[in-house]
Amino acid sequence: MKYEIHILEERCKGCGICVEICQADVLELSPEANEKGIQVPYPKKPENCLNCGMGEMFCPDFAIYVWVNDDEEEVRE
Ligand code: SF4
Repeated sequence: MKYEIHILEERCKGCGICVEICQADVLELSPEANEKGIQVPYPKKPENCLNCGMGEMFCPDFAIYVWVNDDEEEVRE
């Protein structure tokens, strides 16, 4: 995968802003709450990620970042 999406669970408060802001429908809130009662998002469709930076920009807790995997070719249709 060209882009690896990382969510820092210890920072996330499950507000869902990243899920709503992502126009590529990459993220979804977990149906299961963690031990703090938070539904942390996960990359439901990581292959859709365009590395637009919106999730990182809008997350109020700096809990999400995208790692660029330089070993992989970027594939866009
Ligand atoms: S915007 Fe940040 S704090 Fe809110 S759900 Fe996404 S990763 Fe968690």
